[in-house]
Amino acid sequence: MKIGFIGLGNMGAPMAANLANAGHAVTGFDMAEVSVEGVDMAASAAEAARGAEVVITMLPNGDILRRVAGEVIPAMDKGAVLLDCSTVDVASARDVAAQAQAAGLSALDAPVSGGVGGAAGGTLTFMVGGDEAGFNIARELFDIMGQKAVHCGPSGNGQSAKICNNMILGATMIATCEAFALADKLGLDRQAMFDVVSTSSGSSWSMNAYCPAPGIGPKSPADNGYTPGFAADLMLKDLRLSQQAAETVDADTPMGRAACDLYARFVEDEDGAGRDFSAMLPRFEKRGRG
Ligand code: NAD
Repeated sequence: MKIGFIGLGNMGAPMAANLANAGHAVTGFDMAEVSVEGVDMAASAAEAARGAEVVITMLPNGDILRRVAGEVIPAMDKGAVLLDCSTVDVASARDVAAQAQAAGLSALDAPVSGGVGGAAGGTLTFMVGGDEAGFNIARELFDIMGQKAVHCGPSGNGQSAKICNNMILGATMIATCEAFALADKLGLDRQAMFDVVSTSSGSSWSMNAYCPAPGIGPKSPADNGYTPGFAADLMLKDLRLSQQAAETVDADTPMGRAACDLYARFVEDEDGAGRDFSAMLPRFEKRGRG
């Protein structure tokens, strides 16, 4: 397949490399000087998009996506697929999709979970919104870049699934960390705490697969000095998107809002920037109730 790939950063570069490795003809563009093995670089986003059957974008936010979409949509052939894998606000995803459809294109919003490791290993999970025809064309690319793609419904539903999932993740990580800090103060051994909770009704992915306490459970960023992993800054971005969406549709999300406020404080006023999102545990360890 002839593929345009715009946004070759931490995630986009390894995703594009995997597509090229699998034998697809990938033309890339990034604002920054980058080179990716097997990917031909174009001089502009429009040039990368011209003649492509699928144009993939992997960009920082909704404003940038809107700007790039404005450049690439007029350059794309009718019937081609605009596949955005960035995490952006639901409104931007839906607006860009409408613009693409009006130009005779298929549009998919397909944010990912799995992080840089998943991008490099081709094991991402894609949450996909958009039309069935586009999903069927993109399916073979999802199979190369990831291990699972779930079609969640019409445009915007991929982003909706992503922010709902990460709102649960942010809240459960905080709950797991504050419970560990309480257990410490009550004199409960961390291994015992893990053995009980991971097999009881308090279990979650945060405890079982990504334990925030070092030396316990499977290997996680806690065992590596809380180097991300999944950075607290990115969790804050996703929590803000969840709260922005909740406001738009008048949904009451008190736990999501509390998680968002706490990660904002952690990243912006404390030492959370650049640390893994599970570094909430050492944060709670140092604190009392005041
Ligand atoms: P990144 O900042 O490393 O990459 C973004 C790239 O986009 C950069 O190379 C930048 O130069 C390029 N760019 C910005 N504006 C551009 C423009 N106008 N034209 C062309 N290129 C432009 O970010 P990332 O970590 O690769 O994340 C990309 C997206 O994936 C984000 O939406 C992020 O939320 C999401 N995501 C990231 C992770 C992760 O672990 N890093 C996990 C899941 C989802």
